[in-house]
Amino acid sequence: YLSKENGKNNYQYYRVHNNRLARKLKLENGLRRALEKQLFTLHYQPQINLASGEIVGMEALIRWMDPELGVVTPGEFIPIAEETGLIVPIGKWVLHTACHQYKQWREAGLPEIRLAVNISVRQFQDKQLVSTIQSVLEEFDMNPGHLELEITESIMQNLDQSLVILTALKKIGVKLSIDDFGTGYSSLFLLDKLPIDHIKIDRTFIEEITFNANTEAIVRTIIDMGRHLKFQLIGEGIEHERQIHFLQEHQCTIGQGFFISPPLSSEKAGELLSRKQPFVQV
Ligand code: C2E
Ligand code: MG
Ligand code: MG
Ligand code: MG
Repeated sequence: YLSKENGKNNYQYYRVHNNRLARKLKLENGLRRALEKQLFTLHYQPQINLASGEIVGMEALIRWMDPELGVVTPGEFIPIAEETGLIVPIGKWVLHTACHQYKQWREAGLPEIRLAVNISVRQFQDKQLVSTIQSVLEEFDMNPGHLELEITESIMQNLDQSLVILTALKKIGVKLSIDDFGTGYSSLFLLDKLPIDHIKIDRTFIEEITFNANTEAIVRTIIDMGRHLKFQLIGEGIEHERQIHFLQEHQCTIGQGFFISPPLSSEKAGELLSRKQPFVQV
């Protein structure tokens, strides 16, 4: 009886495992095809100054609509792109496309906000990362201070190599932010050693505001620490007004989330930027 059950479990294990492997292969091939055929697009999510309601930044977020696979979320395909190294050419495409868009907005006379682009740790292993960024900035005649690179805490795992690259990037003049802060491998000791400008408080913390006093204490502590270390704080994943109020009250300066705006097509994002009034009444 036991061995029969085991056999069944094994069978099920292999079936699930094989399905997952098949999906992965499909996505991997799909990613190569998507790169070739330019099937990716970027959406842009506004970041606002929580004191004035004005848009101060836009985060570029990749989207993939595949004719065969349908919509595949970054949550599913970015890890595969990282594993296969495809994130390097995809990341170049993202940088190029976002900075090109930024130039179009600038030429249309829209306010010069910050443009945030996500960079995977895997892209730090690309020897050309710094020169790629430099040449994109030159190509679109972009002020380096307007480009913000979002990296995650996992860069601290390979500290020596990361520090060299981060320092080179700072020298160019781009801004650096730590994304999803509080969920990774941050060492508070290292935080002071890295040339970081902004910290994005992960949305798992923001989610619990007004529900969990302990999480609120953590958020307050991150904000205080950030202020002392001269980081700008960004609260991400704001879905409710009460979360905005909490962040304002504790002097978190920037906010981003569905309550403010979901990620938008470049056209819609451009329309928002062209409005004269503060984007959100805060
Ligand atoms: P992230 O950089 O932390 O981006 C924020 C994610 O949270 C986005 O998901 C955004 O749509 C979502 N989000 C924004 N506001 C809210 C909210 O109020 N509630 C909730 N529940 N979610 C919110 P998205 O676009 O699916 O991206 C997921 C992750 O994929 C990103 O997390 C980032 O790590 C990665 N990613 C996206 N685009 C790129 C890219 O161009 N390059 C790289 N390397 N990674 C990217
Ligand atoms: Mg991000
Ligand atoms: Mg994040
Ligand atoms: Mg993330």
